[in-house]
Amino acid sequence: MDFPTLVTALLVLFPAWLLGKRALRSWAMRTFTAVPDLQRAGTPRKYGRVAGTAVVCGGSIGGLFAARLCADHFERVVVVEPESWTFTPEARAPPVDNIAEVVKDDATYKTIKHKRTRVYQYTSIHGYQTLLLDTLRQLFSDFEDVAQSFGAFIAPADPYALLNGKHLWPTAWAQYGDAGLPNTIQCSRRTLEPMLRKLVSTSRPEIEYVQGTVTDYVLGDGGSIRAVVLRDADGASQKVECALAVDCTGVAQIGFKLLSRALPNILPSDIREQYNPQMNYSTFDFPAIPGFNDALRAMNIPRPDGGKYLDVEKLSAFFIYQPDPTVEHRSLVFMRRENGGVMILAGGWASEMPVTVDELRDFVSKLKNLDRVPKHVFPLLDIFKEYEHTATVSESRINSCSRLHYARAAKVLPRNFVALGDSHMRMNPRFGEGTTKAALSALTLDGVLRDLSPQDPSFGATFFKRLDSRTGQVWDGVKYADYGHVATTPASGESLTDGKFARWFNGKLYAAVETSPATSSALWHVGQFIAPPLDLFAPAVLRAILRETVWPSS
Ligand SMILES: Cc1cc2nc3c(=O)[nH]c(=O)nc-3n(C[C@H](O)[C@H](O)[C@H](O)COP(=O)(O)OP(=O)(O)OC[C@H]3O[C@@H](n4cnc5c(N)ncnc54)[C@H](O)[C@@H]3O)c2cc1C
Repeated sequence: MDFPTLVTALLVLFPAWLLGKRALRSWAMRTFTAVPDLQRAGTPRKYGRVAGTAVVCGGSIGGLFAARLCADHFERVVVVEPESWTFTPEARAPPVDNIAEVVKDDATYKTIKHKRTRVYQYTSIHGYQTLLLDTLRQLFSDFEDVAQSFGAFIAPADPYALLNGKHLWPTAWAQYGDAGLPNTIQCSRRTLEPMLRKLVSTSRPEIEYVQGTVTDYVLGDGGSIRAVVLRDADGASQKVECALAVDCTGVAQIGFKLLSRALPNILPSDIREQYNPQMNYSTFDFPAIPGFNDALRAMNIPRPDGGKYLDVEKLSAFFIYQPDPTVEHRSLVFMRRENGGVMILAGGWASEMPVTVDELRDFVSKLKNLDRVPKHVFPLLDIFKEYEHTATVSESRINSCSRLHYARAAKVLPRNFVALGDSHMRMNPRFGEGTTKAALSALTLDGVLRDLSPQDPSFGATFFKRLDSRTGQVWDGVKYADYGHVATTPASGESLTDGKFARWFNGKLYAAVETSPATSSALWHVGQFIAPPLDLFAPAVLRAILRETVWPSS
């Protein structure tokens, strides 16, 4: 090739390569994340509102996000929720704790009594990702003021996290320099839900709330749900005609039960996948401890990469220990919550559940890779011991994770039926992803509503296909990690040897986080739901995995 031809070829090929790379990135973001939908969310619908009513079944996290977004698309939005307490002013205000005493074996501890009886995890520790905060900011113009009035803590999502004993944080952080990593919100679940309810009710006062239990769907012509039937607070049956039925009934997964009844012998038998990770853990909840930040500062917590001391006031989590279940069954999280409080998670696969600080200390001392546990963890335990009398504890057992593969029933599902949040997928909460996933699913619904009318025969199928691309890998990743622990009962037709490659790959990713900035950055961004999981297969990450395979680090 002569020189001018080479120059011409380069002039054509280089921009083509750049354009191709950009197109691939845009496709990956569109397909595997909800970030492009987030950018459009909250803006007016192009072609006017859809005639009729969107009926949102369930008024918790998924239902509230769905209702807020549907209000941009439909003439009328109705939320059906059975729990009477959610209709009180208390359910839109910061929580007021009622405490009760529990006696367990030879230990006594205090726990929070609340009125949210249908949400099992109401007092369990909740962590959230960047996408959740971004969604709250995009949808609610008064978010910062409301979050402040609920005492929520907003700070870089930079958990001082150990993945199998390796620090995730420093290399991902280095990418953002002094600005720190993008922010997340930290607050307990019993603060997040009332805060979201307040944000939705003030920003969209036209949304109607009906107290009732959804009991049936009335099917209409042309493969649709014509009406949602509910039993109201007086026990009477009511029918609400609907243009769209959104199932947000959480673990009750009412949509699936009603469709199975309405379409007997028509739904494929492999829609519902379920397994049991036997995940048990305790949540310790400390209200603000006097002088806590000063005590933390005095600990001179070093950056894990040996740099200057951490700015403890901006630290959202003091310690996260996420193990590989083939090696260790114990997980630990120490993190901030609203109003200066601290929450702790201690537990894991078929794990013991500490309910006193002495038991917690014993639990920490049994961790494998104990030499990698940061030095500040033990003085923190001393502080927690001193303030144990102020703490409450709650115990959680997660013995059923399930995913509804609605895309497998695309041909027979009513076109205007969608399900999101836990009614579509209830994951092992060890990475704390359920709430962000509910927001992601509602954003996905918003995106589909901007492209299609619910009268379109492909509406529901399009929604479930997009949702599967964005949540399927999260499900598989968590499930196959769970299969690494012998106590897990696998899904029907599977065995604990399934997902061997995924576990091997994950082990190598974790092993590479301290030495490969590309790997820690990809893990961090994918984990925050703001980058596609495809990034975990980027050339620099694959090189790090190859290096770990040939020359494993200690
Ligand atoms: C122990 C535990 C810890 C968790 N930790 C985290 C965490 O750290 N971070 C995180 O993000 N997520 C976590 N999760 C998951 C998170 O709590 C859920 O993903 C989230 O609550 C899902 O919201 P949802 O609206 O889909 O369902 P839910 O919050 O379960 O709400 C379902 C709603 O449906 C209503 N309902 C039920 N039946 C009917 C009916 N027949 N008709 C109408 N309405 C009905 C209920 O009253 C309720 O309001 C955890 C879960 C558990 C179990």
